[in-house]
Amino acid sequence: MEYKRSSALFTEAQKVIPGGVNSPVRAFKAVGGTPIFVKEAKGAYIIDEDDKQYIEYINSWGPMILGHAHKPVIDAVIEKAKKGTSFGMPTEIETKIAELAVSMVPNIDMIRFVNSGTEACMSAVRLARGFTGKDKIIKFAGCYHGHSDSFLIQAGSGAVTFGSPNSPGVTAGTAKDTLLARFNDLENVKEIISQNEGEISCIIIEPVAGNMGCIPPVAGFLEGLRTLCDAHNILLVFDEVMTGFRLAKGGVQELLGVNADIVCFGKVIGGGLPVGAFAARKEIMHHLAPIGPVYQAGTLSGNPLAMAAGFAMLQELNTGNVFQSLHDKTEYLHKGISKVLTEAGVTHQINRIGSMISVHFCEEPVIDFASAAKGNNDSFKKFFHGLLDRGIYIAPSAFETWFLSDALSYEDLDKTIQAIEEVAKDL
Ligand code: PMP
Repeated sequence: MEYKRSSALFTEAQKVIPGGVNSPVRAFKAVGGTPIFVKEAKGAYIIDEDDKQYIEYINSWGPMILGHAHKPVIDAVIEKAKKGTSFGMPTEIETKIAELAVSMVPNIDMIRFVNSGTEACMSAVRLARGFTGKDKIIKFAGCYHGHSDSFLIQAGSGAVTFGSPNSPGVTAGTAKDTLLARFNDLENVKEIISQNEGEISCIIIEPVAGNMGCIPPVAGFLEGLRTLCDAHNILLVFDEVMTGFRLAKGGVQELLGVNADIVCFGKVIGGGLPVGAFAARKEIMHHLAPIGPVYQAGTLSGNPLAMAAGFAMLQELNTGNVFQSLHDKTEYLHKGISKVLTEAGVTHQINRIGSMISVHFCEEPVIDFASAAKGNNDSFKKFFHGLLDRGIYIAPSAFETWFLSDALSYEDLDKTIQAIEEVAKDL
């Protein structure tokens, strides 16, 4: 039986780890079946514990933009590890990666490193509150900014996959300071601001949403948010945990030409090690401890192995034409999928920007959480398992984007399209 060893490992794991996983979406609950346990990965492929190989479209949910076990990153980590793995004291590599990140991203002067995207967003909001002296935040339904309390209000990703977009354990006091808006609906944001005049510290947004599938902003939406923020003394926080160093060197700020006040990073910036970061202009960052009063800290923040991995990764991305190559591959995949699903008469929508793409089984364009939620989950389940059986690994939930890595070859993409053509017959 396929998945035999994975099944056995999952059974063992469930005895000692809630649900057998350390992050909910991994459990395959939305699609059913046994999660595959990874033995190793190289380039565009992962190999599971039953020695089956898959073409990869999750890529650790984004970080592995150059493919798995990318040599310059691995070498950098190994060399650093030989010299000690953590000191809790400053090291040169922290400044090097900070300088590089600041040089690649528009509109930021300083950056602070943390250990996850959650920490980055949580700290960014604290900083925005400290800087503006106001408590409320606006977030968008279906956007996910990690599992910090303020964000588990109509959150996307695993939170919505598991039917708990509003998590028990988040107090009413916390929830009341998070105001909920509709993605891609500027009028809705205007209304909320006018009902809470003078109380809103920041608007936090995934400028290209990736946690309800991939949803790019409609023309004028981000620009409109920028204008509203300027008019009402509100900070605009771009959560570029997914999009940073993926859609362009400078993320969505560069790609779509809209400036944010604070930017959050994660995933790619750590090269596959646990790293997050938040960045802003000097005047804002100077509000952080130890210069300013807004407290934020971390025992393992700026960890040398993590910084070495991130630095090697950013150096690679800073040269060459990875982003164009990824765009071309994703466009090729998009056209191929579109063709075979259309020929098979499968109702679908495909959203794509850069190297993020998602397939939705619904009739109307997917532009916000409500339209994403109209997708046919039975079709998605069949699609997911059909692909898995054929050695193609996509995210086990319809509310996730696919992330391409530049390690994918056009042959891999052709195999993927062919598998989708076969699966489409059963949808
Ligand atoms: N923001 C966004 C946009 C994300 O996609 C994620 C995670 N997928 C996070 C924040 C949280 O990051 P982490 O899982 O590293 O805490």
